[in-house]
Amino acid sequence: MLKIYDTQSRATKEVVSTADEVTIYCCGPTVYRDAHVGNLRTFLLSDLIRRTLEIQGKTVNLVQNITDVGHMAEDVNPQDKMLAQAKLEAIDPFEIARKYEANFHTDLALLNIKPARSYPRASESIELMHKLIAKLIELSHAYVGSDGSVYFAAESFASYGAISGNRLKDLKPGHRYEYTDEGGKRFHADWALWKAAGDRTEMVWDSPWGIGFPGWHIECSAMSLDLLGDEIDIHVGGIDLRFPHHENERAQTNSVTELESVKLWVHGEHLLFEGRKMAKSTGNVVLLKDLVERGYDPLSLRFCLLENRYRSQMDLTWDSIAAANATLKRWRRSGFGKAANYRPDVPTLEALNNDLDTPRVMQRLRSVEKDSNLSDAQKAAIFTFADQVLALDLGRDLIVPELPAELARLLADREIARSAKNWSESDRLRIELENAGLVINDTADGQEWDLR
Ligand code: AMP
Ligand code: ZN
Repeated sequence: MLKIYDTQSRATKEVVSTADEVTIYCCGPTVYRDAHVGNLRTFLLSDLIRRTLEIQGKTVNLVQNITDVGHMAEDVNPQDKMLAQAKLEAIDPFEIARKYEANFHTDLALLNIKPARSYPRASESIELMHKLIAKLIELSHAYVGSDGSVYFAAESFASYGAISGNRLKDLKPGHRYEYTDEGGKRFHADWALWKAAGDRTEMVWDSPWGIGFPGWHIECSAMSLDLLGDEIDIHVGGIDLRFPHHENERAQTNSVTELESVKLWVHGEHLLFEGRKMAKSTGNVVLLKDLVERGYDPLSLRFCLLENRYRSQMDLTWDSIAAANATLKRWRRSGFGKAANYRPDVPTLEALNNDLDTPRVMQRLRSVEKDSNLSDAQKAAIFTFADQVLALDLGRDLIVPELPAELARLLADREIARSAKNWSESDRLRIELENAGLVINDTADGQEWDLR
């Protein structure tokens, strides 16, 4: 069965379901903008876990929340990301939320990420949060601050810091994670569960503590407890959520359940693009639709992500996307994804069970493809089995485009130039072919082409 790295115990642990189904909670998108390819890497992680369990007969109950209120921008003047974007686009914040939520589902579908069983919205879970906050106050884990906001008392939770290693004694006042608008708290590491509205008028609700809105961390505790119960097998998110988001979530949840509620904390490393962090401020943000606009199959992104272990930082480049796109087409053309009968392929299963070693599975497919000792039927059985988790649609029929005679001639000339190691001529022809709308990919087996 699947073994996966648990951030809290800093060890690889077997996934053991506490009930009939394996329960997974994956922190969802903040729907104030389109998800970028980095966010999608994290969303793919829960799909890989789920599919790996499913091919071994497990049923999975995956819940992924929609954060549509309360996620504040880390800024000197913190603002709710939703409200800031609503102002920018001059439309209602709920309209912003529904628009980007719809785009999120489109992206997931294009990436063959199976839908979660439920997608609770924070804005529709306010009552649940009120109940949870009231319980935390009753248990003396939370208090109403001098500014009317409700805060969690970090010092009331003895094992604070277990996930991230950030123990309270080491957290100094004025840390980056602290919001400057949380002036009414008693201790610098406390955080707001319910924020008093002040002069904010949109996305606010009445509550036993006055008009306000929820803090981001309490949302996930409330929604996960409601939909998955007191014990959750796996909790997934990007590495940046380890602290403070997951640390705070754990404190809130465990304080009411009096259990170690999450059995496994799984964090995906970040994705860089062309060597740089993705950030709006530097204009380095790539969306799935940018790939599609350049003529790439959206699954070429899934392909690239699979070639990297989820726990390593990876650098995505346009070149790697182009290469993935070409290999994807070659694999589909081979027909290996179409086996009607297949058995589990042990090396594939072992690699997946070993902390989702998808690069090893991809490597296996590359060597199986070339292996002259295997029949096409044997190759197809392996490809088809692996594709249940890889989900690259390897069985998809590929329509081979007709190549205009002129381009066919240039391609043949380039093949000759390449065999003669006449690289300058081969490069010149490549540029000519690309200008004519072809995508050229040089592989160990020769040049591959496609129409853009
Ligand atoms: P957000 O929509 O900002 O709430 O983020 C959604 C998810 O994407 C969270 O789990 C983040 O940890 C994750 N995430 C943010 N940036 C990246 C990145 N560059 N690479 C991978 N995951 C990311
Ligand atoms: Zn969360």
